[in-house]
Amino acid sequence: MTAAFCSRCAAPMASAMLGGKQRPQCPACGFVAWRNPAPVGMALIEHEDRLVLIRRSTAPLADYWAPPAGYVECGESVPAAVCREAHEECGLLIELDGLVGVYSQADVDVLIVAYRAHSTGGELAAGDDASDARLFAVNELPLQPPPKDGSATDLWLYQVVADTIAHWRGAIRPDHNPRSTTQ
Ligand SMILES: [Zn+2]
Repeated sequence: MTAAFCSRCAAPMASAMLGGKQRPQCPACGFVAWRNPAPVGMALIEHEDRLVLIRRSTAPLADYWAPPAGYVECGESVPAAVCREAHEECGLLIELDGLVGVYSQADVDVLIVAYRAHSTGGELAAGDDASDARLFAVNELPLQPPPKDGSATDLWLYQVVADTIAHWRGAIRPDHNPRSTTQ
């Protein structure tokens, strides 16, 4: 989605060939509206030997169980954003244990950086963007059908959630649940 008017000088935007692609550019001040995927941090949190999932209350993937996740803001690092979002969405204080993976797709305008983490305090409670927050043991993870009539972002996020949860299960029980995917 491109704005009709320049966000810097409010002149009508035009199109220009830049770096081999047509891009929105302001003919008055030269401002180029670059489009980049927004970074989102995600946490696969172990709490009391189980995985913390929240029930998403908003799109994409509304009503699905997913790890806490949210947009990285300017002024914070990705790890700091993950810890902040985890606290806002599920009430727990966490410490990160390592990268699970970086997920992106050409037709989706976010990029997800997922970490393994464990709780260090707080109380499990559903917060921002979550209608519920629960603990799932490795053998009772939710079975969720793929979204019907979902957007590209819904379908992609569904796959990212399935992949990161499978990774967590593999990391916890390598003998019983070998990882089926590699990053
Ligand atoms: Zn301008």
